[in-house]
Amino acid sequence: MPAVQHMKWYGWGVEGVSFHHEDKPALRPFVQEIIDLDLATPPKPRTQLSDLDIPAPRISPELHAALVAVVGVDNAVDEDEDRIVHTYGKSIRDLMRLRGNDLPRVPDVVVYPADEDEVQQVVDAAIAADAVLIPFGGGSNIAGSLQAPEDETRPVISLDLGRLTKLLDVDEEAGLARIQAGALGPDLEAQLNARGWTLGHFPDSFTHSTLGGWVATRSSGMQSDKYGDIADITRGLRMVMPGRVLVLRGLPSTSTGPSVREMVLGSEGRLGVITEVTVQVHRIPEERVILGYLFPSFEAGVAAMQEISTSDASPSVTRVSDAGETRFSFSTRKKSKGVSVSGLVSKGLFKVLERRGWDLDAVCLSFVGYEGGPDHVRRQKAIVKKIIGQHGGILLGKGPGELYDQKKFDTPYIRDFLLDRGAAADVSETAAPWSQLVPMYENVTAAARKAFAQIGVQGWVMCHLSHSYHSGACLYFTFAFRHDDQEPLARYDVVKSAIQQAFIDTHGTLSHHHGVGTEHAPWLEQDISPAGVQIMEGLFAGVDPGRNLNPGKIT
Ligand code: FAD
Repeated sequence: MPAVQHMKWYGWGVEGVSFHHEDKPALRPFVQEIIDLDLATPPKPRTQLSDLDIPAPRISPELHAALVAVVGVDNAVDEDEDRIVHTYGKSIRDLMRLRGNDLPRVPDVVVYPADEDEVQQVVDAAIAADAVLIPFGGGSNIAGSLQAPEDETRPVISLDLGRLTKLLDVDEEAGLARIQAGALGPDLEAQLNARGWTLGHFPDSFTHSTLGGWVATRSSGMQSDKYGDIADITRGLRMVMPGRVLVLRGLPSTSTGPSVREMVLGSEGRLGVITEVTVQVHRIPEERVILGYLFPSFEAGVAAMQEISTSDASPSVTRVSDAGETRFSFSTRKKSKGVSVSGLVSKGLFKVLERRGWDLDAVCLSFVGYEGGPDHVRRQKAIVKKIIGQHGGILLGKGPGELYDQKKFDTPYIRDFLLDRGAAADVSETAAPWSQLVPMYENVTAAARKAFAQIGVQGWVMCHLSHSYHSGACLYFTFAFRHDDQEPLARYDVVKSAIQQAFIDTHGTLSHHHGVGTEHAPWLEQDISPAGVQIMEGLFAGVDPGRNLNPGKIT
């Protein structure tokens, strides 16, 4: 088996790393209060790989031999664990299905090509044998973008890009870097940093997702306010299609339309296998700082972020949590004294807030990030400080921002911890115009609460605004409830659907940065209209008439 790093088959991240609550004393009472779950509850025994009923590979000896002839015997793997790792992504549904031994269609073989030429030969062999081919990056998607259709009778090949990880070239004048699509975030960033560059793309899944996966799902990183979403960062690419390679050179801009580059962005493997991406890179900034602020209400924070987005300031991060998410953040602090704002701020500041008459449990935590030379950073901070002050906010300082920056890649481990104890936690996010954000926030939280009541649970929903644009921003909702193994997926569907429908009903898109997959496909027509879906179907049918390339995703 090739030396490609994969996540645990049953959850997030690598073996040996998991979430602990003992060093966060305020978390246990907080979780008890919001979803009636005692974190001290021992975890349920976890399903072992040996407990799974893994169907035997269904692939003809001829196709298997053809693949081995291309990639070599060590890089065409049909061992159980590898096939299971490549069956699903990391959505809560994926994890529940895996742990619940729900394995209707496991890939028959996982291939690890070494270069674009081998990718082309694998794609062509798959088409010739009428097999299904599913590109695999880090396997971190949460939109159901990887699993083969349940009733797929043809052979299923998972094509893992894990051996295509090199920074190929940097055009130092243009800041355009050519990078192979299978590079994971840390590896890619290390290769760029060694030459003084950064991509500036840092999704929460950074450690376990790949450049090709980011492009194929239209990903967004937390510094997108400065660097753009992956759709902005991607200036060119190469994609293997049946019988040929699509070549889009790295260009600053072009009027060649409709944009083929945009068609590939978010295509989730339905058009081919992206082997290489030309990305805009930036010199590593001299300074990088994230400051924490507090607002008396979410509405005040949203209004401030809107004003910042149209001001002369150009921060790298703009983020404001609602009161619920603020309480959650405080509760995860080590040695925190409580879950109210008093657990976070100094006694002096606490008194200031009291004097201002703030409702301390309605306080909203905000982060704004600044990058660049010292003068630039100083000027940005001053502009933002003024705007935040005009909206009633106050500066907390560097401490909370540094903490957020340090723990952001650890947060995903909480989901597995809760799952082990009979609770589901998941996210849904959208983007909408500034004018719609506050009504949308109210609409979505009300819809989630109604859904909790409908399924008879004490649920929790919290939200933050992030990724600001001139016209609007992303709202990111996290929800959780204890299911005690009582129809967990059916109940999850009620809540998830209510939230998604509330997005559409309030002028939001089905997802700001997680893609469509199968999870969000039911809202596609409402998102882009029937005519939009027809255009997409025409595109996919034209490129892939036999539905061999990751069928069933998006449309
Ligand atoms: P995979 O999951 O392997 O694949 C995703 C889709 O892309 C599949 O359809 C696959 O076939 C296709 N694909 C992958 N590689 C290629 C290729 N080379 N050519 C063609 N098709 C390909 N997303 C964000 O944008 N921002 C976040 O902050 C963020 N945070 C997350 C946090 C957690 C805890 C989790 C679980 C997910 C998060 N995600 C986030 C979602 C996920 O990380 C992204 O969707 C990511 O872009 C997927 O990349 P991947 O390499 O893991 O792709």
